[in-house]
Amino acid sequence: MDVEAYSVEELWSPKPCQLPIRSRLNHLEPMAINTPFVESLTSYITRLAESHSVLVSTLMTREIAPILTNDNTEYGSKRGLNSLFNCGAAINSTGEIVKLFLDSLTQLTLNNNLSALTLLSLKGCFSDRELLSRSKTWCPDCYQDWKKSKKVIYEPLLWTFKSVEVCPIHKQSLQTVCPSCDRKIPWFTSKSRVGYCCYCQQWLGSLSKTERDSNLAIAKEDLAQSIWIANALGELVASSEKLNRNNNRDRIPLSIREIVNLTQKGNIAAFARAFNLPKNTVWMWCKGKSVPQLKHILSVCYALDISLLDFLVQNDFEKLQIDSQKLPRKISSKRISPQNFDLLEIEKFLQSVLQDRESTPTTMKEIAKELAIDQRTLSKHFPELCQAISAKYRNYQAKIRKKKIDKSCREVKQAVFTLVRKGEYPSEARVSQLISQPGNFRYKQVRMALKEARSEN
Ligand SMILES: [Zn+2]
Ligand SMILES: [Zn+2]
Repeated sequence: MDVEAYSVEELWSPKPCQLPIRSRLNHLEPMAINTPFVESLTSYITRLAESHSVLVSTLMTREIAPILTNDNTEYGSKRGLNSLFNCGAAINSTGEIVKLFLDSLTQLTLNNNLSALTLLSLKGCFSDRELLSRSKTWCPDCYQDWKKSKKVIYEPLLWTFKSVEVCPIHKQSLQTVCPSCDRKIPWFTSKSRVGYCCYCQQWLGSLSKTERDSNLAIAKEDLAQSIWIANALGELVASSEKLNRNNNRDRIPLSIREIVNLTQKGNIAAFARAFNLPKNTVWMWCKGKSVPQLKHILSVCYALDISLLDFLVQNDFEKLQIDSQKLPRKISSKRISPQNFDLLEIEKFLQSVLQDRESTPTTMKEIAKELAIDQRTLSKHFPELCQAISAKYRNYQAKIRKKKIDKSCREVKQAVFTLVRKGEYPSEARVSQLISQPGNFRYKQVRMALKEARSEN
């Protein structure tokens, strides 16, 4: 039987094959987009580095920084890069830097939905003050669950809000210090890894004893409010598309005016009193002359039982009533003038801070901020208590430093031992490569440990 052979044209089609455009880096899909647990941009960058088996610093210097701005000099240098790592939380926020990152990551991965991994849709809505936590917070049980069920480990945008203190799924406090080395972990560092401490490389899915105890200490009503807040913000980050279509910033004064009208017949002073806010502040919000802090709007929404999303996108509330049980407690948010603050109440508070053995010691500056009283006023009224609290903090810092130094000394000895066995000279540079915190060579004790180890080996 004769079989007709293919013609040359049939075999070699002159039509060029249309290949879809390839992205330069992995086209990594962001996690949980359009849900309350949507991933944060810093987490995405960290996973992107991991997917290429490189450190975050390598991804930043080789790929992201060169196209971050037209003027490469700003972020191309080591100093420029450090400044990017220092502003970790800002990469997930609303500023100009976010747009630069989004542009370069979209270009590199061809993912064009990455703005949902930031708070860009809330630009101009809330004051930057206390909007995001400065260091990582996380739910160890979420990590552990994901690991067990072999899911992708990542950091939800929700955990970055300063106002989110509990996990809405596991109903427990988010962790703030590494259970192994007790340090706060920055959002974005040259060696960031999701789910692990960037200092000691330990898994963050376990709970330290102090943290477990502090969980038991959350009062029931506080827990209810914390969960409400986490859910309200979860709904918000899940709705970035809806928020993007809306002019949110302009809606805020309208919503506040509407709420003051409905709850206090337009009386700003009465409204401010109910929420322990300065009258002027509320007036400025109503006039659109200043933007509120997120935590204040959350406490207003909580007491009125309206969702934060409704507050931002609709302002025709039908009937509103303040639940007096849910109003903020006096001591923590009232700005107290030196003339009329409750000295007894504050003394009690300071004593409780001093005697508290569970929580991480804090500075007087932080305490003064929490009480909304000037630090000098506090030291004037309670000099001894304030000094004792500061001393407690200094002791705590010294203890941490000692722990750090001791660890480095042990590592140095081990490194010298290893190098000598291999027949290498244990120079400081070589030992530095083998220890977790080479920067600790600035401490005399660590340098001494090197000297000692050399003479012993
Ligand atoms: Zn959880
Ligand atoms: Zn650690």
